[in-house]
Amino acid sequence: MSYVAKSPWVIHYDGSSCNGCDIEVLACLTPMYDVERFGIINTGNPKHADVFLVTGSVNEQNKAVVKQIYDQMVEPKVVVAVGICANNGGVFRECYNIMGGVDTVIPVDVYVPGCAARPEAIIDGVVKGLGVLEEKRKAMDSGMPAATSAEDNAGKEEA
Ligand code: SF4
Repeated sequence: MSYVAKSPWVIHYDGSSCNGCDIEVLACLTPMYDVERFGIINTGNPKHADVFLVTGSVNEQNKAVVKQIYDQMVEPKVVVAVGICANNGGVFRECYNIMGGVDTVIPVDVYVPGCAARPEAIIDGVVKGLGVLEEKRKAMDSGMPAATSAEDNAGKEEA
């Protein structure tokens, strides 16, 4: 097993959610779900993170922030869109300033459904993301370019 499989660190960003999905992400860290027992740490530093968890939709105000966090993460990295708002804009998609889901600005590897997304689904999404992360690491080791463009979402999975 690789180092990433042993202790994946995540960074969480709230795009423009109603905070429903954010509460569920935090619930994953509580003793009830306790993802830290798997070595999963919620870090505030993009340079330390393997997994980018995004809740809420992307709008004109936060699109640059989402992109900047993503760009600061080192390869290999995966993006998990948590909740229907992060998937496609959700209930906010027709608001005047909403661009859509996270994949309007960065490539998304795993889409976690739900409104709000349940902690079990979020954990499942992160686990699926770790599989993608491992594939990307192997591709990097073999000299093949990792899939990082928004157009290259052919391998995307839904949790
Ligand atoms: S998916 Fe539902 S709970 Fe999550 S941020 Fe959107 S409206 Fe809130």
